[in-house]
Amino acid sequence: MKSSVSWLTGNGPDAECSDAEVEGSAEAESATVLIVDDDARLRHSVRDLLLAYGFRCHSADSGGQALEMLSEREIDIMLLDLNMPGMDGQQVMVQAAERFPETAVIVLSGETTFESATEALRRGALDFLRKPCAPDELYRVLNSVLHKRDLEHEVQVMQRRLEASEQRYRFIVDNSPDIIYMLDEKGRFSFVNERIGSLLGYSREELLGRHHLGLVHPEDREKARFAFAERRTGRRASTNVELRLLCHDRRLPYRHLESRSIPVELSAIGIYSDSKDGVYRGTYGVLRDISERKRAEELITFQLHHDLLTKLPNRALFQDRLELALSRARRNQSLLAVMYLDMDRFKVINDSLGHLAGDRLLQVVASRLRSCLRGSDTLARVGGDEFNLLLPDIAGRDDAAMIARKILDQLKAPVVIDGYEVFVSFSIGIALYPEDGKSMNELVKNADMAMYHIKGRGKNGFEFFSDNMKGIFRQQATIESGIRTALKERQFELYFQPQVDICSGRVWGMEALIRWHHPERGVILPDEFVPVAEETGLITEIGDWVLEEACRELREWQRGGFPEAVLAINLSAAQLVQADFESGILEALKRNGLSGDRLELEITENVLMQEMDQAASRLQLLAAQGVRIAVDDFGIGYSSLGYLQALPLHTLKIDRSFISDIQSPDDRSSIVTAIFAMARELELEVVAEGVENEEQAAYLRRLHCSRAQGFLLGYPVTAEKARALLQR
Ligand code: C2E
Ligand code: MG
Ligand code: MG
Repeated sequence: MKSSVSWLTGNGPDAECSDAEVEGSAEAESATVLIVDDDARLRHSVRDLLLAYGFRCHSADSGGQALEMLSEREIDIMLLDLNMPGMDGQQVMVQAAERFPETAVIVLSGETTFESATEALRRGALDFLRKPCAPDELYRVLNSVLHKRDLEHEVQVMQRRLEASEQRYRFIVDNSPDIIYMLDEKGRFSFVNERIGSLLGYSREELLGRHHLGLVHPEDREKARFAFAERRTGRRASTNVELRLLCHDRRLPYRHLESRSIPVELSAIGIYSDSKDGVYRGTYGVLRDISERKRAEELITFQLHHDLLTKLPNRALFQDRLELALSRARRNQSLLAVMYLDMDRFKVINDSLGHLAGDRLLQVVASRLRSCLRGSDTLARVGGDEFNLLLPDIAGRDDAAMIARKILDQLKAPVVIDGYEVFVSFSIGIALYPEDGKSMNELVKNADMAMYHIKGRGKNGFEFFSDNMKGIFRQQATIESGIRTALKERQFELYFQPQVDICSGRVWGMEALIRWHHPERGVILPDEFVPVAEETGLITEIGDWVLEEACRELREWQRGGFPEAVLAINLSAAQLVQADFESGILEALKRNGLSGDRLELEITENVLMQEMDQAASRLQLLAAQGVRIAVDDFGIGYSSLGYLQALPLHTLKIDRSFISDIQSPDDRSSIVTAIFAMARELELEVVAEGVENEEQAAYLRRLHCSRAQGFLLGYPVTAEKARALLQR
């Protein structure tokens, strides 16, 4: 824009509206200029000129007024005279620099000394013009100041953007779940993000300038040497290298690295200068925490080789260890033992207390078993209630027997589960290398066979394998399938053994005893198949059949005219804990039109003790309906007698081992005498079992025994013969 206004030197008339804003031309710059001069004519002429150039203008005739106006409006440029009465230009500048730093200052002064010019520039003036000044010069200076100011503004904006971007980048890097690092060309940390603190416990400052290998677990340093300070780029660079990094205990000074370490996965590439020769500048890398994944992997490996309930090795790991131990034993010509342990009656416990309690029991038992062993032994859980034990360092049979005894001993004390006392015992079979088997399979199989053998013989004990067991084992396996067939094809029969009042000779009642008419083997006695039936759970089906059959027979007796006679049946533990135990019995009685007091239930004292909590309430219910309860094989089981009072009992059946001890009528068999005395005290009836000779009978008569049972008084006979006996 060209000016047509001449430059006046300051003698013009004073301007009206000196402090009013005056708009410039339509194409005016948007910049606002404040003209500060005590010379009114100068103010005027400069204003006219600037308006013509398109600026917006204000005027002030003193320093004070100038500051006032600065505080009231936005002024881009102040055109400032130095020599003014009152506050001079230099003083205005001091205040303006402090209070209005946004406003650019150009000095327009008659003052021409070098000192005042430098002074003004030092105070922040952007240019210095001398009065009078050519319009073009003023216009050029104003524009150049505005231009400079715009540039500065742009730089500021750029700077702010840069800062924001830097902050964003920082945020992303520092909040990365991975450690991000850079090394210099010597392998020292030149950058590391905040993650290093939360993951490993270092502060950034501690690490910067330190060599990276100090952070790596000593065993992984070899692997880390090239990967961590990777020099390669592209596809050849390191990716997913697994390392362990040392953690830093924050309570201790830097040097103290913990032995604790964290597994990470490292990926890194080399950094090179942009120049053509591409000088190596360092490494950029990422370290990812893979603890979670490692833990999951470890868990999976553990699960593959262990039983999760007891945390013991499983069958696969046991076989592995056994194979190893065998090859060592072969090399060293040493012995080893394999034990097969099976919990007795676990099925019954599990069914009666529930599976959670069963699990707890297994855990307690597993830890008790473990306490009997040495570090080199392997105890594994190989089935529900089955455990295998490998003893790789034994001197002979005695050693193995000693450990088996120790195990049985450890398990004697009851286990308390949910407030119930549970008694557990084990049947243990033992096979020795090399005598009882040379291979893994043979040893385990033979130990298993020995275990079955002890199970069949009353459980709670151990037995070594012997060759003749093979035949017996085959029998046991066939017994189980045989029982199923027997149930289907009605091969069972009840025999009846009389219980006699030995003073009067009157038949008081009968005990029902089961017999199995095997199509090939003839009659099989219960001692041979009841334990197998109990172990397999088949006993409940047998028990149901016995109950039904017994009730049918009782009905026959009523019809036959001996309604007084009592029939006793034997119960196993599994029956006692059946869900419908009481209702099953009461319904059977009802179906056959019988009153409860014709039926007596024989339960051994061991079973009563073990199932005490369940037994008490269920038997109460039955007793309330008149059903009689007898303790079978009394005297040989647990010595705790408290249960006698807690249960609704009617009868004690003295075990026949006590009766067979009686040699003559005057014998002072203190136990039998004591039992009679106690029974009288508790108002219980006593049945003497296994009376085989007159001496025993005489002895019992002397004790006023009213009921006795035994071969002397009658063998177990068929139902028909039993009825004939009752008739007599
Ligand atoms: P238990 O209940 O103690 O039955 C008495 C056993 O002693 C019977 O053996 C009987 O034949 C035998 N016995 C009787 N008098 C004499 C004698 O004077 N001398 C000798 N040495 N023995 C005599 P059995 O019938 O072989 O039964 C054995 C066991 O099998 C029974 O012992 C009982 O615990 C069980 N049992 C029998 N029948 C059943 C049944 O139906 N269910 C259940 N769960 N168990 C049964
Ligand atoms: Mg009995
Ligand atoms: Mg008995």
